[in-house]
Amino acid sequence: MSYIKGLKCRECGREYPISVVFVCEYCFGSLEVAYDYEKIKHILTRNEIEKRPQNMWRYKELLPLSREPTDGFNTGFTPLIRSHSLAKVLGVKELYIKDDSVNHPTLSFKDRVVAVALSKAKEFGFHTVACASTGNLANSVSANAAIAGLRAFIFIPADLELGKVIASSIYNPTLVKVEGNYDEVNRLCAEIAAKYKWAFVNINIRPYYAEGSKTYGFEIAEQLGWRAPKHIVVPAAGGSLTTKIYKSLKEFYELGLIPEFKTKLYVAQGEGCAPIVTAIKEDSEVIKPVKPKTIAKSLAIGNPADGFYAYDVVKKTGGWGEGASDEEIIDAIKLLAETEGIFTETAGGVTVAATIKLIKQKRIPKNESLVVCITGNGLKTQEAVADKLNKPLKIKPNLHSFEEEIKKRRTADHYSI
Ligand SMILES: *Cc1c(COP(=O)(O)O)cnc(C)c1O
Ligand SMILES: [Zn+2]
Repeated sequence: MSYIKGLKCRECGREYPISVVFVCEYCFGSLEVAYDYEKIKHILTRNEIEKRPQNMWRYKELLPLSREPTDGFNTGFTPLIRSHSLAKVLGVKELYIKDDSVNHPTLSFKDRVVAVALSKAKEFGFHTVACASTGNLANSVSANAAIAGLRAFIFIPADLELGKVIASSIYNPTLVKVEGNYDEVNRLCAEIAAKYKWAFVNINIRPYYAEGSKTYGFEIAEQLGWRAPKHIVVPAAGGSLTTKIYKSLKEFYELGLIPEFKTKLYVAQGEGCAPIVTAIKEDSEVIKPVKPKTIAKSLAIGNPADGFYAYDVVKKTGGWGEGASDEEIIDAIKLLAETEGIFTETAGGVTVAATIKLIKQKRIPKNESLVVCITGNGLKTQEAVADKLNKPLKIKPNLHSFEEEIKKRRTADHYSI
């Protein structure tokens, strides 16, 4: 039983049957999946969802498959953590962290989109999957292709962090380092996709793939006890996650699964690659492409495919956008680790740093519910913080040596034991 009606152009509204198309042939607008909400309404109740296994497919009627899913049975339903320590530091009353740094199998929210993409690629009869990636998508397509028994071609910028490269190579895909930035990798992949019969998860099957991000938003609402928070801060690269969190809450509201939807969405980007944030601040519908220069490499897309739509969601909901410098990113990664025990990657640092600014600016009031999106894991971007941490004490294996060294450290750090 399928609940998808077809694809619909986001610009001119023209409809297309479910197939491997991603741009409107009339206006070049991007396409989006349309659902039969009337049918879904009768099936997808809170009760029904709560009975299902705790993975992203508990919302499967709102995902774009025509058959049963084949991938991602251990993906999603990551913790929504009520923060006390970080909340205290930020001076806010009701703070939650949606923690996809522990998403299965590759420790980022990308496993959600890839689970949908690979299930859909199999429906379409593809044997080879591919992607253009800033790092996490590469890891996820590599791992999930291994699980699904599909061939994988993975294209990444040549300067990615070692952790991200190894976390793809381990699954033995054909990994291609392109001497260029992400936008150049993406342009090349669009050309390859036109020539080879491969499912490029974020290019030719992008309308389906992108829907997987909605599960991140569905889970936030369900885990809050079936309600939408007042504020959500989202890290943005291409801008898709931002738009899909919005869509997820709108769908839940329209299906009667949550009573109210007045959530403001905020976009966070690295200062060295902030085309969406700049557009928000300048109130300009035109997203000006930039050349990325930030340690937040997973967010380093200079020409974001969904930039306008992310901008639009922020404006529609009354949110805002903030950037973070490299130094602020590192401080925020450390703050999150020291307060909540969560080691996030640079993208998470961007989100926490932007949140701090938004609270200081009073754009996010201190007494309203706030969700911070942590979308990736710090073990993959260790070089960002490696030189910025306290060095371990080095001692001889005896008590005297330990007490000598601890005395020195104690004097330096002003603590007592
Ligand atoms: C890809 C990615 C994002 C941003 O996703 P978009 O949908 O492209 O905006 C955020 N965080 C992490 C860790 C990512 O890998
Ligand atoms: Zn169109």
